[in-house]
Amino acid sequence: MAAQAWDDEYDVVVAGSGAGAMTGALTAAASGLRTVVLEKTALLGGTSAYSGAAVWLPGTQVQRRAGIGDSAESARAYLVALLGEAEADRREAFLATAPEVAEFLERDPAIEFEWRAFPDYFPAPGRLDAGRSFVPLDLPAERLGDLAALVRPPVDRDRAGLGHAEGPLSAGRALIGRLLLALTNTGNGTVRTGTALTRLVVEDGRVTGVEAATADGGTVRLRAARGVLLAAGGFEGDAAMRAEHGVPGTAEWSMAPAGANTGDPIRAAAAIGAATGLMDEAWWCPGVALPDGRAAFTLGFRGGLMVDASGRRFANESLPYDRMGREMTAAPGRVPAHLIFDSRSGGRLPAISLPGRPTEEHLEAGTWVRAESLPELAELIGVPGDALTGTVERFNGFAETGVDEDFHRGEDPYDLFFAGRPEDRPNPCLVPVDTPPYYAARVVLSDLGTKGGLRTDPDGRVLDGDGRPIPGLYAAGNTSASFSGRRYPGPGVPIGSAMVFAYRAVRDMAR
Ligand code: FAD
Repeated sequence: MAAQAWDDEYDVVVAGSGAGAMTGALTAAASGLRTVVLEKTALLGGTSAYSGAAVWLPGTQVQRRAGIGDSAESARAYLVALLGEAEADRREAFLATAPEVAEFLERDPAIEFEWRAFPDYFPAPGRLDAGRSFVPLDLPAERLGDLAALVRPPVDRDRAGLGHAEGPLSAGRALIGRLLLALTNTGNGTVRTGTALTRLVVEDGRVTGVEAATADGGTVRLRAARGVLLAAGGFEGDAAMRAEHGVPGTAEWSMAPAGANTGDPIRAAAAIGAATGLMDEAWWCPGVALPDGRAAFTLGFRGGLMVDASGRRFANESLPYDRMGREMTAAPGRVPAHLIFDSRSGGRLPAISLPGRPTEEHLEAGTWVRAESLPELAELIGVPGDALTGTVERFNGFAETGVDEDFHRGEDPYDLFFAGRPEDRPNPCLVPVDTPPYYAARVVLSDLGTKGGLRTDPDGRVLDGDGRPIPGLYAAGNTSASFSGRRYPGPGVPIGSAMVFAYRAVRDMAR
């Protein structure tokens, strides 16, 4: 075979720059491997940079410091209760490696975490009601210096074309910023923005490098002596690929940065024989429809009630967002749904919505409507007036007794975690809707990324159609089919699992 003409040679090539990619890159560079991160867009961090950066890594030194009594054993009980034994090998690899990842990262002076209360998402054995996930400490922008401008800003500012606000980088920006700082400090890591992986180079059955498109229209060929890690998000931003695999929702409603996650690395791997799985899956959430046609990740409902096209409730509005998203797909007439609320919240959405827009902007665009009576409101959103009035009256009755006889809202620690005024009795999650004017906000099905993708083993090795690892090729994060299957067990599972499997992948490459 003719020798390959490479533009540059590295030990490890990482595609993508989310939390998994950057953890993998740091792991490689810290062990002396020459490492390059390829990022398709001009900014680093993808959806991970938008995120709250909750990291679900059970049983680590971070939970021990906080004294919350977390352990791999309780996390195992919880995961087994939710997922059964379908992914036992990857589950065990995840549990065994999570503490090591936290220890490895915190050994770096650039990285520090703290436990943050946020309940697990299911009532099941092993659940921690206060939660077990942790977050990075805010990062003063000065510590990053010029590198700060490379980190993707929070979703509201990014969609508006704005850079970072004054002050420290927080949440996902802090996580990406800290990983970037640590990577840079190794002296072995390079970051190339505006460089999109398009093709994998295979020699004698082994992936030995990549081809990537550069922002100026060129192509670069980069050698990866040890391996290629694909950690470049899912395909949530690609309408055709969503349609092909029957993923509910739309690319516009997804939360990934515009144009970022279009599944190119999944396609590149499939082209050389990689197997895929869970391709109709995503990390779901309700999304308040925005005037620009996109949607806003919405969680933590403190008031209001959600109705379908028949004007009836269909779920506990306080459910964890992925579970609520699944309820929205479970029957016709629920997308769009409408959140009905009143003037008790001053005309503002009684929920957390990222990004949020002013009420007047919504009213002008028609994504929200306002009326003095429920029948008028019903007419504006096209649901039967008597049904909506009956639904609200029944709900207000539940608010009075404190018992949601239909959907048990307010009975789970997660519901109560977001209640606006926990001291309200009899049930802080059931706030009457009785103070005109009334509002209806259109709610669509959004997602935080698809979670189907390349099939991988416990070391993140990409498998072919016969279940055999493809030498030199690894995947993590939403580029891979998640070990959590059709469940979202708790806050930080997308990022925590991306970090663990990226770490394991690079450890495998280094062996
Ligand atoms: P991303 O973080 O999206 O990174 C993928 C990157 O790859 C992008 O920068 C993209 O441009 C790049 N890329 C794509 N194609 C190519 C290519 N061909 N070549 C090179 N680069 C490419 N999850 C949690 O675990 N905890 C949370 O607290 C949390 N909070 C969230 C809050 C919000 C508001 C949102 C929107 C999501 C949240 N999530 C959270 C979900 C989580 O952020 C994502 O599911 C996860 O970050 C996806 O990680 P990833 O590495 O797979 O992809």
